Amino acid sequence: MRRPRFIDPFEPAEVRRLVREFGSPLLILDCERVRLQWRALTKALPRVALHYALKPMPHPAVVQTVIAEGGCLDLATTGEVQLVASLGVDPELCIHTHPIKRPRDIANALEFGVRTFVADNPDEVRKFAQLAGQVQLLLRVSFRATGAVCDLSRKFGCDPEDVLPLARLAADLGVDVRGLSFHAGSQASSATKHVEALEVCARLIRSGRREKLGLLDTLDIGGGFPISYAQPVQDIQRFCAPLRAALAKLPQRVRVIAEPGRYIVGPAAIGVATVMGRARREGHWWYYLDDGLYGSYSGQLFDHARYPVEVLREGSELLPSVLAGPTCDSIDVIAENLMLPPLKIGDLVIGRAMGAYTWASASEFNFFPKATVVTVNAVAGDTGSVIAP
Ligand SMILES: *Cc1c(COP(=O)(O)O)cnc(C)c1O
Repeated sequence: MRRPRFIDPFEPAEVRRLVREFGSPLLILDCERVRLQWRALTKALPRVALHYALKPMPHPAVVQTVIAEGGCLDLATTGEVQLVASLGVDPELCIHTHPIKRPRDIANALEFGVRTFVADNPDEVRKFAQLAGQVQLLLRVSFRATGAVCDLSRKFGCDPEDVLPLARLAADLGVDVRGLSFHAGSQASSATKHVEALEVCARLIRSGRREKLGLLDTLDIGGGFPISYAQPVQDIQRFCAPLRAALAKLPQRVRVIAEPGRYIVGPAAIGVATVMGRARREGHWWYYLDDGLYGSYSGQLFDHARYPVEVLREGSELLPSVLAGPTCDSIDVIAENLMLPPLKIGDLVIGRAMGAYTWASASEFNFFPKATVVTVNAVAGDTGSVIAP
């Protein structure tokens, strides 16, 4: 018998087949590419326990692929807890990292079986006072990441000088402080911020241990690992090289974990939209697609990303063109000043690297439904299916 093989769902013929089968717009999510991203980061950060952060693409197929690779999960909301619980994931593989939680978010996560939580201020630490003995905390430290595309240290994290006072409060309440965490900013251009943060955390861990403020045997270095959109970025081995050097100098008995999101799923999906109509305006061809800024391309607003777009039509003649989304809003324009071959109604437009922060932040504004997520290669020979999200 012939062994089923992985197919490449990003090949034009496969894209057309999937649109014929599942309609348009689509987000084609290739689980084999999720695996390859996972393995590349695992190789770049050996001995770091990777926890996939669900936020950029909270899809069951990604969760199952990560678990099958032997990975762990980073959850932040009750919805994410429910998703993983419904998939039968072992709660011991999960941590909960939202620094601000309602009591019922904590209760839901605890009931599922999560034991590790994050706090970054005294009120949040006090929410665990009644749960002493059942939970362990990571204290989130803030390091402003002005170079990153998305600075996650303005909204969350305490200043380094507030860490030990916070750990003392936890110790007074009998709450276990297991370690520290940070997020050096998403889509970082280099690991400089990660390394700086790691070095400060290493010093804080040493001080905390001297004061016996908890076990302090865990350091969570967050996410932020970059992927190429229109602009190429450092490949992951190179990006992580300074991090590996810094990790080698950590105090003894520190377990390191990371929370990659974008890096795992970003390159693993493409968006496919169809030209619904076209018009010539002021010397430019305007093409109206069935997906746009309120849909999968929402990341162009919220995540400041620019997805490389291409069309599934050959042509030697290139004309100035605009790609617009389907809604009646004037800001719903995906890209302007493109040089494209003349497109016809029904032609397909592909957006690359659309797995992270795209579908996750899409809305149904104007009643245009979100793109259908088709997963391919969940196992070898899997040619595509739609799992209700
Ligand atoms: C969003 C988020 C992540 C994932 O970040 P990426 O930059 O996508 O890798 C990880 N951890 C936390 C706490 C987050 O909020």
